[in-house]
Amino acid sequence: MRSELTRFSVVKSLLKNRWPQLFGFIVMLAGFLYAIMTGFIGTPVGNNNFSTVFVWIAWWAILILVAVPFFGRGWCAVCPIPLPGEWIQRGAILEPPSRKPRRFNLRWPNKLRNIWLQNLTFTLVALFSTVILTTPKVTAVVLAAMLFLAVGMSIVFERRTFCRYLCPVSGFIGLYAQTAPVELRVKDKQVCITCKGKPCYNGSAAGYGCPWDVFPGGLTKNTYCGLCMECLRTCPNDNIAINLRPFAADLGQPSRKLDEAFKAFIMLGAAMVYAGVLLGPWGELKSAAYSVGTVAWFGYVMAFLAFIFGLLPALFWLAVKLGQVLSKSNVPARHVFAAFATALVPLGLMFWVAFSLSFVLTNASYIFIAFSDPFGWGWNLFGTAALTWQPYLTTALVPLQTLVLVGGLLWSVRTAQKVGREVKIQPVPVIVFSMLVTLVMLGLLL
Ligand code: SF4
Ligand code: SF4
Ligand code: SF4
Repeated sequence: MRSELTRFSVVKSLLKNRWPQLFGFIVMLAGFLYAIMTGFIGTPVGNNNFSTVFVWIAWWAILILVAVPFFGRGWCAVCPIPLPGEWIQRGAILEPPSRKPRRFNLRWPNKLRNIWLQNLTFTLVALFSTVILTTPKVTAVVLAAMLFLAVGMSIVFERRTFCRYLCPVSGFIGLYAQTAPVELRVKDKQVCITCKGKPCYNGSAAGYGCPWDVFPGGLTKNTYCGLCMECLRTCPNDNIAINLRPFAADLGQPSRKLDEAFKAFIMLGAAMVYAGVLLGPWGELKSAAYSVGTVAWFGYVMAFLAFIFGLLPALFWLAVKLGQVLSKSNVPARHVFAAFATALVPLGLMFWVAFSLSFVLTNASYIFIAFSDPFGWGWNLFGTAALTWQPYLTTALVPLQTLVLVGGLLWSVRTAQKVGREVKIQPVPVIVFSMLVTLVMLGLLL
């Protein structure tokens, strides 16, 4: 059941018009540059600096609790990181210029056209995250590096290569965007078959060819569509629609790609490690994660990598193999492994929601303080700098997290059953895997 939002002319005009989006971009870019500046010249105390507080508490809360679950890649539609590079690449800020600027416009190598590099960049950020999260200067360096890298890649490569293949947050936004109740799709694929010039992909005077290197006529899931609205502007046949749909509609078509499967493991495992390190009672583990460069930290790194790339996939592989034996199936195990990893998408998302509830509700009061005193210099711009730290909704937190985790498990069970029907393999061992990791996560959080 789908309901087309773009059938309302006001919605369509708002989305087609470049000015509202540009306004959103400029506000976000200003906030982003402000965060870099406060990170570099403000107080080194993480809890009192706009940079760390806004990026890792406010932005993170909005992203993982609202933007991704309800709008999929909605954040990418206003994210400022690729913006300056895109302006340079296009030689324009709004409509396409009459003469295309000369740029290198290189194609990204075929061998790298997957999300393994994004898995790597996310893992790297995750390994240093305790320091990035708490040190304003390091946060500023990471934000500035992303901005410069995106600009550099836009100058050398075509379209949004940084977003598509390198951005450390792109992989998980794309993974979990599959669960969102909104999508951009073509209305009628037959119209696309006979469409001359495919301006949605190649561009026209009305707009740019898909910056995400996606042919909208072939879209079947949300993972790689950045919701930039260019195809809505360029399609001469009014064949693009934004639809409301049931949650997780994309999960009905299990992935066959190992890079996407591993993204699911990385996200699931990282949520569990963070819950243990940042919220757990183990002081030595916490201090090892914070002591970057020491022997203890290298031990933490090895354990982190072994858990995410070794233990979790190995146990999951055993579960998948057992399902194959029970079903007497000879479908290649690699395909079944990747397909069943789809069941970890809703589970991982709910792990992150449950973890973030703890993290965000405990630290949200810092947002009001940093808003008034962004540099930690004793300012009181909005009269909230003198507020004292206090955790919010402490009594509701545990029931809420339990509900979220149990909901995630049920969602994962349903997805595993659907995948099982699709690949004709018994899903029970995978369901047992999901139950076990949920029990561990419950133990870590509660
Ligand atoms: S992929 Fe990354 S850089 Fe690109 S728009 Fe999304 S969050 Fe921003
Ligand atoms: S421009 Fe429109 S009709 Fe043509 S291929 Fe693209 S989405 Fe289909
Ligand atoms: S042009 Fe269309 S398909 Fe491509 S990223 Fe933008 S909205 Fe998605």
